[in-house]
Amino acid sequence: MPGRILVVDDVATNRTIARAKLTANYFDVIEADCGEKAIGLAEQEQPDLILLDVLMPGIDGFETCRQLKKSRRTGHIPVVMLTALDDKADRLRGLEAGADDFLSKPYPDMALFTRVSSLVRMKQMVDELRLRLETSRDLGLEGDDDLRADAGLNFADSAVLLVCDPTDMMHHTVGRIRDHLGCAIETAEGETAARALIESNHYDACVIGPNLTDGEAMRVASQLRSRPQSRHTSVMMIFQEEDLSRAHLAMEMGVSDYLTYPPDFAELAARLKIQLRRKHYSDRLRSSVHDSLVMAVTDPLTGLYNRRYANNHLDSMIRKNRTSETGLAAMVLDLDRFKAINDTHGHGAGDDVLREFARRLREAVRGVDLVSRIGGEEFLVVMPDIKQPDAERVAERVREAVERDLFELAGSAERPKVTVSIGPAIHRPEESGSDLVTRADAALYASKARGRNMVTLARAA
Ligand code: GH3
Ligand code: MG
Ligand code: MG
Repeated sequence: MPGRILVVDDVATNRTIARAKLTANYFDVIEADCGEKAIGLAEQEQPDLILLDVLMPGIDGFETCRQLKKSRRTGHIPVVMLTALDDKADRLRGLEAGADDFLSKPYPDMALFTRVSSLVRMKQMVDELRLRLETSRDLGLEGDDDLRADAGLNFADSAVLLVCDPTDMMHHTVGRIRDHLGCAIETAEGETAARALIESNHYDACVIGPNLTDGEAMRVASQLRSRPQSRHTSVMMIFQEEDLSRAHLAMEMGVSDYLTYPPDFAELAARLKIQLRRKHYSDRLRSSVHDSLVMAVTDPLTGLYNRRYANNHLDSMIRKNRTSETGLAAMVLDLDRFKAINDTHGHGAGDDVLREFARRLREAVRGVDLVSRIGGEEFLVVMPDIKQPDAERVAERVREAVERDLFELAGSAERPKVTVSIGPAIHRPEESGSDLVTRADAALYASKARGRNMVTLARAA
């Protein structure tokens, strides 16, 4: 996992110390002695993380961070600001500049490694998602264009769970957090209450107070990780000073951040903001990846699966049927004299008819049947787990559902009569998907030749 770290500091000794610590832990280190050089190097070398000093001649750390975060080429690289000890104002300024974390000089080794490792791990996950999105774009699929971390971010939309108990000071922060971030915040007293809330609610972040035992805290964290709805919830833990050695393990196990008790409110709020921002960003990446995958397999006009997906799906259904032999059928459908509908009512009306046809088709088949649009007015349905009489019956039901009622057109009183010709085919042992579709096609054309608006079962060939 070790990655490449860019250390930015104007003092050579500081860079040397950081380099020694990081290389001893197998990180690869590059250096810059000012903000301007750091920006150039970050663009060129694409490091996995940037350790950035605040006080430097020339542009300072805040401005450097701001510029790094603004650029498309470097905005996704995590930045850890090195602030002066106990300078709370600096931390807040760092956060405003877009920093992902901060360390106070002189930072303990453990704090350096846990924070750097966690951020590098997160970056590698985000890189993977970004790569998939780029692939989708290369394939000509649209995607969410504005992928800057903060686009669309509103803390008021976030929900936070605070697990604390009446003996700790954490519950005093609830109101302040709510006022400061505007987010929804709930509290749970102890493990059992926390687990019950997590079971039925959605949280973007969960802050676990210092009075849970190790086991209790980790059970809450692992419950969050194990449920699909909360898998990406950020988990922050608050440790008593003497328990700090547990922070490293907790971070290894997927906890996103930690603080020492009692936390300084400004730092708690700043770290919570960072977590919510990061969660928001990775949620958006994930949903863009998801959307572009959906787009890759969907026909935009009808919302049905497209040809590429249908062919692949048919092949995997055939492989599955080879072992289970529960029966498999396909049918190809083609609207009758569709060109005339376009010619008479216009292309837009033709589109309406295709959409309405897709709706009726989907309604007439079973949920397990895969419905796809494989050409202009040609469709393919793959039907698993079915024998010949039922396959014919389904085809007949579709034919009737199309013929029965005239089609409505948007913005027109005209209601064309539409019919469809269908060729169902029963899969034969050892037959390939494309051979099956070819037979179904031949049966479809037999339906056309016999006068259209008909179902013809494919010959066994
Ligand atoms: P047949 O009964 O023999 O199938 O006759 P047909 O007119 O349906 O078949 P033909 O293949 O001659 O014409 C199909 C028409 O479908 C031609 C094409 O312009 C139209 N078409 C293809 N895709 C679309 C589309 O997305 N929207 C609309 N409105 N029309 C489309
Ligand atoms: Mg046609
Ligand atoms: Mg056609």
